[in-house]
Formats: sequence, structure tokens, C-alpha cells
Amino acid sequence: MKNKFCGYVIDSIDYKDNDSIVTILCEDGLVSLKARGTKKITSKMNSVLFNYAYSEFEVNKSEKSGYLTLLDGTLLNYPNYVINSLDYMTIMGIVSEGVNKCKDNENLYTAFKDCLYLMENKVNSRALIIAFLNFMLESEGAKYEGDKCVSCLNKKVSSFSFELGGFLCNKCSNINEDVNYLKTMRILTKINLKNALKITETNKNYDTYIENAFDSLENKCGIYFKGKDFLLRVLKMEG
Ligand SMILES: [Zn+2]
Repeated sequence: MKNKFCGYVIDSIDYKDNDSIVTILCEDGLVSLKARGTKKITSKMNSVLFNYAYSEFEVNKSEKSGYLTLLDGTLLNYPNYVINSLDYMTIMGIVSEGVNKCKDNENLYTAFKDCLYLMENKVNSRALIIAFLNFMLESEGAKYEGDKCVSCLNKKVSSFSFELGGFLCNKCSNINEDVNYLKTMRILTKINLKNALKITETNKNYDTYIENAFDSLENKCGIYFKGKDFLLRVLKMEG
């Protein structure tokens, strides 16, 4: 049975000599298909199957196994702004990992599109990765509390704890942190895929937040990103 659909190429894995298994994110979720002969240099399907390309795919669905095999494809859009930036390429690696790890999240397609839109509009790299990490934390039910004490809901907060999940008041923590630091933390908890373009300047607290958000996803949600260490190195390199 022939079938046509559009989507973003997320990942492809070599399979046998010249074939690959390609993962595509469509509006309805993730789809895997087998593409034959794509490793041959002459394959006209190369551009259609580039990572992050938006393409139309014509596939055959096996009646027996349900497996999809690629018959033909058309490249519709390619995000050049991604491959021209090491930061963006590395972040897209993380975003793709996240997509693969949260298959059931119905907002993934929109989140993925939002990330590309932000990069097309030259979003600050740290703001983008924080927006994505906040999206992941929220969809895993581990969003940091950015308004009140996470323990007693008191609105007068005096410290921030990544481990405990957000702001704490003086009674609950007995710690008084710098007011400017607390203001920055409030902003950081509120960065999302809709407002990230508003962030134009960052400071070292952004890097601390990124490292801790990765840790929270790992320790509280069991989501570990293979690309994490490389991303942290890239961000440090760029200064
Ligand atoms: Zn409290």
C-alpha cells in the first residue's frame, strides 16, 4: 500500500551495506522507515534524508509486517542556519535525543518546529537550550517552581534549589541568596520556546542552570542525554 506524508528527518542509522533506517517526526508522531541504497554517493535521496530536512516521503507499507519502505521523496525545506553553526548543530542533537526519548509527548512536533524557528531568527544558544530543557522538565512533571517557595508556597523567597525543585523561603531553607541572583533564576525558570528570542544577554548563571537542568532530567526523570558533555564544552568554547 502506497502512502505519502511530510515530516522532519530526526535521525538515520546505517543498516546493511547501503541501506538506512530513518526516523521522521510528523505531526502525528515518530515514524521509522527503511531506505534502500541511500549510502551510495549517487543516491538522489541524500538531500531528502539529511538530518533536520523537511521532506515529503512516499512509502510502501508492508501488509504483513507493517514496515515502511521509502519509494520516493522530495526535499521541501532545509534549515541551512542549523548546519552553519556548531552551537545550533549540537543543540539539535540534544533536541533529537529528547524527541526520541519522549515519543508519547503530543507537543513534540510543535516544540521541534519552534526550535527551528528560533534558530532561523538567530536565538541566543543558551536561551534556546534552556527553553528546550524547561520544555523537557515540564513534560516530565519536574518543572522548577519559579514564583513561590516549593515547600510552603510562601511568595517571599530567599534561595533557589535545583535539587528541591525551585525557590525556597527563608523559613524553609534558612538561606538568603543575593537578590539579583534570585531575579536571574526567576527569569531562567520562565524561558520557553515562545519567549526565548527576548533573551539577548546571558551570564554564568545560565551555564549553571543548563548543567543543573540536565542533572535534574537525569536524576529525577531518568533522561540522560549522550550529547550533554559535548554541548557543555561547545558553550564554554564559544564563551
Ligand atoms: Zn517555605
